[in-house]
Amino acid sequence: MKYANIPIFIPELACPHKCVFCDQQKISGTQNVPQPKEISKIISEYLQTMPPNRHINIAFFGGSFTGIDYNLQESYLQEAYKFIETKQVAGIRISTRPDYIDNKILDLLKKYGVRTIELGAQSTNDKILQKSGRGHTYKDIENASKLVLEYGFKLGLQMMLGLPGDSEKISLQTAKDIVKLGADNTRIYPTLIIKGTNLEKMYLSGKYKPLELVEAVQTAKKVYRIFEKNNIKIIRTGLHPSEELTKEKSLVAGPYHVSFKELVLTEIWNDILSEKIRNINTENIIIVTNKAQLNYAVGYKGKNKKKLLKKYKKVKFIPDNSLYKYELKIL
Ligand code: SF4
Repeated sequence: MKYANIPIFIPELACPHKCVFCDQQKISGTQNVPQPKEISKIISEYLQTMPPNRHINIAFFGGSFTGIDYNLQESYLQEAYKFIETKQVAGIRISTRPDYIDNKILDLLKKYGVRTIELGAQSTNDKILQKSGRGHTYKDIENASKLVLEYGFKLGLQMMLGLPGDSEKISLQTAKDIVKLGADNTRIYPTLIIKGTNLEKMYLSGKYKPLELVEAVQTAKKVYRIFEKNNIKIIRTGLHPSEELTKEKSLVAGPYHVSFKELVLTEIWNDILSEKIRNINTENIIIVTNKAQLNYAVGYKGKNKKKLLKKYKKVKFIPDNSLYKYELKIL
């Protein structure tokens, strides 16, 4: 069965922190904070547009949900829970900070049908967390992850690439730590510089240099493979191209690309093709892959195919769904 989320954005409502990269209102693409009484309407409208036979979750995103006033949190959850009781949706997922998790909060989330808790880990390196103004440490991530799992929730751990002081080595370690902490799912976000953030000031004063797109893609590729090999669902790779980001020209600099995930998958396939097609001497080559992988194998704007065309006269990619994700046949 396919999965679908009903996203409800609650930006900056509760967050007293100033992570250097964050301007929550611009990233979430919405500046209106819905009141609890509006939640039912939002969910009902979404439900009308959902195709049948979907496993639907209500997702409170955009800020630190569990940092909201306790009673207000409960009001949001009560409204959402009505749809679980009538079996119109399967569950709720929320995103929050690792240091906003305790027993009282988890009891509340459990009571109202929350299934998945996503924690913004961003890095598991204390120096990077400190330089990024996160206001929590790795210990907080570790403790929160443990508690979330003890309560029987699914754990999501998000990470960022290219934070101040970050390196590829540290990012790969963060990915390995996320695996070790028992995450079920993850999101990989390259750090972008958004107008009005402290990161912008750091950038303009020469104290911060963002990753080049090609660096971000290469690191994301390695991180992606670590997660895949450990069966961790990668929910997102790259920032959602929020309308606000482009409309208000909020993006100052950084490795933003509308098809970031496609670039990452293109590089994964470049590695596979380079490895498998090394010693094949023929004029024409036909490469067979799983249908869902075909575009990635061909590459973003045909990058991988163009590379092969330097060696072979004709290159053709054809689909075969009996093949596994990264399996290929050469005809
Ligand atoms: S904790 Fe989250 S919402 Fe708050 S400033 Fe940091 S990234 Fe933004």
